[in-house]
Amino acid sequence: MSPRYCEVAVPVPLRSTFTYAVPASINGEELIGRRVVVPFRNRAMVGVGLAVTDRAPEIARAKSSIKEIAEVMDPLPALPPKLVELGHWISRYYLAPIGETFRAMLPPEIEVRHDREYWLTEAGRKYLGEISAAETAAATEMAERELLERFATADDAVASTTVRRWAGGEAVADKLVHRGYLGARAVLRKRKTRTQKIIAWNPAVAKPPENPVEGRIREVLTATRGPIPLHLLLEKANVTRTGVLRLEKKGRLLSWEEPLTTEEDAWDTDFTPPANVLNLEQKQALEEIWGWLVAGKYAAGLLHGVTGSGKTEVYLGAIQVALSRGKTAIVLVPEIALTLWAGRLVRARFGEGVAILHSGLPDIERAREWWRARRGEARVVVGTRSAVFAPLENLGLIIVDEEQEGSYKQEEVPRYHGRDTAVYRARLEGAVALLGSATPSLETYHNARAGKYHLLELTARVEQRPLAEVRVVDLREEFRREHRATPVSESLRAEIAFRLEEGTQAMVLINRRGYSWSLLCRSCGALVQCQNCSIALTYHKSRLRLECHYCGYSIRPPKECPKCRAEYMYFVGDGAERVEEYLREQFPKARIARLDRDTVRTKREYQQVLGAFAKGEIDVLVGTQMVAKGHDFQRVTLVGVVAADLALGCPDFRAAERTFQLLTQVAGRAGRGELSGEVLVETYYPEHYAIQHAARQDYISFYEREAQFRRLLYYPPFTALASVLVRDRKIENAIRWSRALEGYFAPYERRGVKVLGPAAAPLARLRREFRFQFVLKSPQRAALSQALSGCLDFCASKEIPETAVIVDVDPASLA
Ligand code: ADP
Ligand code: ZN
Repeated sequence: MSPRYCEVAVPVPLRSTFTYAVPASINGEELIGRRVVVPFRNRAMVGVGLAVTDRAPEIARAKSSIKEIAEVMDPLPALPPKLVELGHWISRYYLAPIGETFRAMLPPEIEVRHDREYWLTEAGRKYLGEISAAETAAATEMAERELLERFATADDAVASTTVRRWAGGEAVADKLVHRGYLGARAVLRKRKTRTQKIIAWNPAVAKPPENPVEGRIREVLTATRGPIPLHLLLEKANVTRTGVLRLEKKGRLLSWEEPLTTEEDAWDTDFTPPANVLNLEQKQALEEIWGWLVAGKYAAGLLHGVTGSGKTEVYLGAIQVALSRGKTAIVLVPEIALTLWAGRLVRARFGEGVAILHSGLPDIERAREWWRARRGEARVVVGTRSAVFAPLENLGLIIVDEEQEGSYKQEEVPRYHGRDTAVYRARLEGAVALLGSATPSLETYHNARAGKYHLLELTARVEQRPLAEVRVVDLREEFRREHRATPVSESLRAEIAFRLEEGTQAMVLINRRGYSWSLLCRSCGALVQCQNCSIALTYHKSRLRLECHYCGYSIRPPKECPKCRAEYMYFVGDGAERVEEYLREQFPKARIARLDRDTVRTKREYQQVLGAFAKGEIDVLVGTQMVAKGHDFQRVTLVGVVAADLALGCPDFRAAERTFQLLTQVAGRAGRGELSGEVLVETYYPEHYAIQHAARQDYISFYEREAQFRRLLYYPPFTALASVLVRDRKIENAIRWSRALEGYFAPYERRGVKVLGPAAAPLARLRREFRFQFVLKSPQRAALSQALSGCLDFCASKEIPETAVIVDVDPASLA
């Protein structure tokens, strides 16, 4: 048989694949979509096979040193052919490195563990002879000798786990490797352990972090992720294992082993889904979808239904149809918390055949769910953004709930949009894409109007329940009347008091974490800024710290201004923590809770708070946008929105759209049960069209107005948009590279691509890096893509590092 070669996507930030020879032992195996272990730059990595050929690549003929695939991993290819095709599309469309793109589609690597092994070289054997013969030896030589002797008696390469136990350990071994006396290589080992170590912040520790390492770990564990597997913590906080173990010894961290199968989810048990009989609008929508599913061809539809119109029932009906026709289905929700609600409903309806996939699951659990889907044991997958890659075959339906949510856009490589990828995947697989929302994104509604998507509408709430009444509170007027600014307006305070008396529930949305937005010097006007980012620090009273929400940097609030030394420091802007405190002062007897990333860190805590609220054990729930979405509470009669116009101040073309969506969503939380609801929206700009249309819950009018603005200023959906960011710790580099790119982009102006920049990015400095931004717009997507893909080749030719340039196609925001 002629030799075979395989193109492998290796998870490194490079745009090319790599060619490996296929050893005879695995010749004949299916390699496309298959996970393989390959040697890469002196280490072993898990990649995925993409193409097989008999022709040796040019370089192989030249150097004849082509490496071999070391091993094939799973009994069947992890990625079915359609997903391989989808990965190629993502890599092309979003200009993402191919290996990292495929990495994002594969299951977690729980079967293998990265390790190193060492062996004695010839030079080492000679050196050992020399130092053994020497009369006197320095202490370092003694240590080296002791270690080398151990190697001399071992008859094979020695694993680093063993070397670690020997005197001198890996530190001395690595020095000897450096001098050529020991050889070393990275290896992958099969993992035998069936548990993984989970690390959590010890809640009893209130002391502020002592150093940046601790600060970063704490940030990840308390603010951004909650308890997570050790290896993920190392990656997310960018710290070493020793750093973590040291903190664990000091009692600042807690750890435990999590078993392969987790216990039954208490949230799931004793739950009976409501048995609803579909109303006329729901029936009509479902009948249409039924028609598309029966046709068995690609179709995309927008289910535009006001809040509380019962979209979920339509989704469940559609899944039922897909399954009954022997097909599979994916349900995407915009955040992890919502997988609980959606997962519970879907599981209650379809039982065992449902898998849940999201990044908050421990690796082992996620891998288990992933393979259940791959092997066909699960036929419905509910999950967040990345579940769009769920390895289901015979896909019939992909549902994207709350399709307008910004969280569907991944903000790291590969920078794909989960909704758009879902539509593309449906097209590839001849499946139905169903996008649902009460406030569709401009893009999606535009597509529906243009006839690219079918439009289905649910115009009324179920059982003729009225939409909540929305009242706009003009804060300017309030101030004139009350002559003082309180964290919550007097009108809202009075309404809450009324609900407490009446015994119903209230929700208060304040879309800022912390106690105060910033600390200001009254003398010179400077805000206390992050050392690493161009952003003001947020005050967290419970921790007595000023913190950066971007990089985790934190300091004790200074008594005097760091710039002018004046002692007139002043906290400005009330956050969720302050609002909660104020309500407790005002209503000492009420049961008040707060839901944001500072108060709930784990799935369990989240369930506890929401569960307590659902059961009526909490009267007032204060929270950030976490409270705005999806949930269905029956006894909420009041929703207050504090500082509703916060987002309007943000310099982004989606600011109005986001404000409108958030207000409409949160208004949708009121009056969902038998009781009617009221919404109070506090603002300084009551006449702004986003606020006005949200108050009337009038989507169409908002769309018309916003579309006009987008058309005039050449923004999506009327123009294809991309941003290119150049970044470096040295400002000179960032400027030089930006200038070079400016030259590269110039000729594209004539080819229909409008290029703005380079200008300082809205966040001009982030994690110590200086950032410059280009904004590219074109009415023709093809022209834009061309300018972009050429840009990466250009960078390569100018030796601008690939990691210094961030290309974002269809960015969620420009801010
Ligand atoms: P949304 O459109 O906001 O996503 P949901 O799907 O959450 O709305 O439904 C809102 C509520 O209406 C839920 O409590 C659901 O059980 C209920 N519901 C859905 N369909 C019906 C129906 N046909 N009759 C009565 N109640 C229904
Ligand atoms: Zn910062």
